[in-house]
Amino acid sequence: MTEHKLPELGYDYDALEPVIDAKTVEIHYLKHHQSYINNLNVALKNNPELQSLNVEELLKDVDKIPKNIKRDVINYGGGVVNHNLFWKILKKNVSFQGEIANKIKKDFGSYENFKEKFSSSAKNLFGSGWTWLVLNERKLEIVTTFNQDNPLSQGKFPLLTLDVWEHAYYLKYQNKRADYVDSFFEIINWEEVNKLFLDNK
Ligand code: MN
Repeated sequence: MTEHKLPELGYDYDALEPVIDAKTVEIHYLKHHQSYINNLNVALKNNPELQSLNVEELLKDVDKIPKNIKRDVINYGGGVVNHNLFWKILKKNVSFQGEIANKIKKDFGSYENFKEKFSSSAKNLFGSGWTWLVLNERKLEIVTTFNQDNPLSQGKFPLLTLDVWEHAYYLKYQNKRADYVDSFFEIINWEEVNKLFLDNK
């Protein structure tokens, strides 16, 4: 049986301080992310033909998932894919750069407009979910999803995402989600976002 495994984080727990504190990264990665992986493995254990597929493929075509495990695969598979991307696009001190920077200016008018739109989506999301920068056909869009849903299921390709579940920020920010969202822009790994854009545009 092919089990899904927690991917390497690629940096130390304190690498995103002070925007995201070390304890939050540690718990979020080792406990929350790991538990989505474990639960996905449980959901797939009686469907060996699905285990070998990558999770993105499953989420792109959820109608192919057997009905009895569909919701679990969307929830836990989404939890896996969403967190994989989230950790990957975080890094301190990376400047806004590359073709993605030009594309953002073109599609949103300016970096400031993009930032405003993205942050108001994240601040206004009611309950638990994610805010995303996605490619929809050839155009950039900002979308939100609830729970662990992933835009791949709507035919959109994620380039950047912010986890707005309370577990992502509560230790440091408590009820101040807006401060967490505003600080996020200091730790976007634009080099990585640009790579994703170039590979999928
Ligand atoms: Mn999370």
